Amino acid sequence: MKVIGDPQKLAKITRQISCKGKSIGFIPTMGALHPGHLSLIKQAVKDNDIVVVSIFVNPAQFGPKEDFKKYPRPLKKDLALCRKAGVDLVFLPAEKIMYPQGYSTFVEAGELGAKLCGISRPGHFGGVATVVAKLLNIVAPNILYLGQKDAQQAIIITRMIKDLNFPVKVKVMPTVRQKDGLALSSRNIYLNNEQRKQAPVLSKALSLAESLVAGGQRDAARIISRMRQLIEKKKQAKIDYVAIVDLEKLESIKKINQSCLIALAVRIGKIRLIDNTIISV
Ligand code: AMP
Repeated sequence: MKVIGDPQKLAKITRQISCKGKSIGFIPTMGALHPGHLSLIKQAVKDNDIVVVSIFVNPAQFGPKEDFKKYPRPLKKDLALCRKAGVDLVFLPAEKIMYPQGYSTFVEAGELGAKLCGISRPGHFGGVATVVAKLLNIVAPNILYLGQKDAQQAIIITRMIKDLNFPVKVKVMPTVRQKDGLALSSRNIYLNNEQRKQAPVLSKALSLAESLVAGGQRDAARIISRMRQLIEKKKQAKIDYVAIVDLEKLESIKKINQSCLIALAVRIGKIRLIDNTIISV
């Protein structure tokens, strides 16, 4: 496994690989790797000749009051996990390489980026789209692997790839969870014992929604209200949003008579957690 910090060097290697007719799978991450990331890597190893993982805590996607500085960076452990998982190339750029002095070009996520998580995290998805566009240009993969855990991100990146004509396929992989339903996230380590006990309420609310739909309920407002009631029973939980939206424009829907996304963001203490499920109708 090679670890490379220079974008030009990596671009040269990946072009040579492509010239030989080999396929490249790519997983962009911010590190602090867990089994959720590893499931993406595993699929990429299965599908491709060569697998590239980037580890880059992207400052452009953090708000001024967010946790950029204290975001976990267990680099040694991450590299060991990549090596064990069969990764061929790790792209590990420095911040000033990705955003040198004078950097001034950004991708806008448009209306999709202003909804759901975009309401409390303005600019976040523009930052995500910008870094993913840069990474796609550097790595030039055949397949990009994203997690369903960040559903809005996957929808925005898929849209960007279509809109900006990136010649890459996208595979969105299912959310990996702990036994009690909590979606794995690099931020879960911030939860104290009590908060960790309360955190599965996000997935419990989604399961409740799924069972209500299975039982014939189609009224989005009623489902959201039941979900909110369940979450509000947890003392440390503060709802950011609970939403039922269509899968393309992320607009609220009133009646569930089409496939849709049920998504939520909840603060447990100071830790903001997200989760979602897709309802297929
Ligand atoms: P991050 O390091 O948080 O930027 O995540 C990198 C990639 O891993 C993104 O495509 C995420 O959606 C994906 N990911 C994060 N957590 C999970 C999870 N629990 N299950 C599946 N994919 C995940």
